[in-house]
Amino acid sequence: MGAKTARRKLSTRLFAALFFVSFLVLLASAAALVAASWMVYEGDAEDRLAAQLEVSAQKLAGLDEQEMCVQAEQLSLADVRVTLVAPDGSVWFDSYANAAMLENHDNREEIAAAREGKANAVFRRSVTTGTDALYVATQIDGTGAVLRLSETRTSLSYYLGSLLVPLFVIVLFATALSLVLARFITKKVTAPLLSVSLEDPLASEAYAEVEPLLDRIDVQRRELLEQNSELEQAVNVRREFTGNVSHEMKSPLQVIGGYAELIESGITSPEDTKRFAGLIRSEAQSMRTLIDDVLLLSKLDEGAGGGALLEIDLASACERAIDRLEPAAAARKVHVRLKLQEGVVVLGSLTLVEQIVYNLVDNAIRYGKEHGEVLVETYVSGELVKLVVSDDGAGIPPEARERVFERFYRVDTSRSRDMGGTGLGLAIVKHAAESMNGVVSVGKSALGGARFEVSLPVCNSNETSV
Ligand code: ADP
Repeated sequence: MGAKTARRKLSTRLFAALFFVSFLVLLASAAALVAASWMVYEGDAEDRLAAQLEVSAQKLAGLDEQEMCVQAEQLSLADVRVTLVAPDGSVWFDSYANAAMLENHDNREEIAAAREGKANAVFRRSVTTGTDALYVATQIDGTGAVLRLSETRTSLSYYLGSLLVPLFVIVLFATALSLVLARFITKKVTAPLLSVSLEDPLASEAYAEVEPLLDRIDVQRRELLEQNSELEQAVNVRREFTGNVSHEMKSPLQVIGGYAELIESGITSPEDTKRFAGLIRSEAQSMRTLIDDVLLLSKLDEGAGGGALLEIDLASACERAIDRLEPAAAARKVHVRLKLQEGVVVLGSLTLVEQIVYNLVDNAIRYGKEHGEVLVETYVSGELVKLVVSDDGAGIPPEARERVFERFYRVDTSRSRDMGGTGLGLAIVKHAAESMNGVVSVGKSALGGARFEVSLPVCNSNETSV
């Protein structure tokens, strides 16, 4: 197994993003609020001062210098500096400073604007008091003098400075609130993902975005479960097979051992000794057949039963296999009749095709009547070629027709054993046919016995290799 790469966590990313966004939003809102409140506060102050200026200027209208100074002094506006500027710019009166000491004020922005009759609220640093101040000025009707009111104001930076402590508290609060919110939302968002159950992914209430992933997980989970049960089944079949094989081997070994012991004891007559030796040889032959069948089935199980795929002439393969059964047929005086269509080619392995024919005809000879008849036919039907082996024996009862293809299944166990059967012949036929994309079935023959039919795909090529 390779080293697991450290993955980034969705919850961490989400938390960080949420935290920064909410923190920034909270902070920006706080800053905007501070700036807006300052502007409103300043705007109010300007309006108030302008109103005071208008009222005051009316009081001074039409008065001479002396009277104006007296009147200006009596204006007594709280925290407001009153300045009276003469038409030539010299200062007649100033409530915060000695007028005589003050320089000519004509160059002051608000004074110049007032003389021109313009709107003139000015925010600047006072030369006289050294503080930031808001100035408004207006020309007094019928005099040429200018009345100026000014109020000390805080600048935005000063305003912010004075808010440093509350701002710090706000930032702290914003941070804490962002943390809590981010944590809460992260938990809420990730909870459905964390609740996904791999046992039943479709039951979870996760997001639509992850549904394809969950679907896939579900499909794969089902596939795995299926594969698992198939694997388990295969293991069971194999275990059963191994058990059966060892069981099947025991009986010939027992027979061989028993007769060998008798011969060894020296009490048997020469005729018996010969007979026993013959029995030993026949049991050894049964064992060899069994071992051959087991090995062939194992190879078929591994998908490598018969070697390379070749184009096989079915009629010749049938004749070759049946030739080998000549002695068996002769022993039971069975006549094997052939009705083979010439020139039919199938794609497969020569060994397997011959095994199919050999096992079916062997069974037909063994389970058919003595002096009876076995019919072997091949004919093309559509895309398929049918190989049909019929006999005149007892046949196979309908309820056993599926099971006869199982390994070691026998309709009549003792009869099969007596006849040297391994119980594997039909399993090999079925497996071999399937490995060539064919099927095998069994029914009742016209001769009254069993009828085995194997269908194999016909190879369309005209060239015959074997
Ligand atoms: P066996 O080696 O015992 O013949 P097979 O796998 O070839 O094993 O056949 C399985 C069983 O099917 C046989 O034991 C027999 O009972 C039955 N069987 C097979 N072929 C025939 C047949 N032609 N007629 C009657 N029974 C048959």
